[in-house]
Amino acid sequence: MWKKLTLKLRTQQGSITRTCKNCGKIFTLPENVQAWPDTCQACRAKLRQTETVTRRCRSCGESFTFPSALRHWPKLCPACRGRR
Ligand SMILES: [Zn+2]
Ligand SMILES: [Zn+2]
Repeated sequence: MWKKLTLKLRTQQGSITRTCKNCGKIFTLPENVQAWPDTCQACRAKLRQTETVTRRCRSCGESFTFPSALRHWPKLCPACRGRR
């Protein structure tokens, strides 16, 4: 009984193939992944690098940029953050 159950679980954790919306390449994802991306890993990495946000530092007023992929967007520029 138990053996059957574990076997079933294992087969359910397969992989999904998707076509990248950006480059058209076919890429695979683990089936249990929570968010299914539309783009392949290479394109996601590229997009993450290019997407930058510009903000004005709360401390010195200088504008600074950071990747939008950051979970917590900084309020201070790198110089002010380093001074803390
Ligand atoms: Zn791609
Ligand atoms: Zn600053």
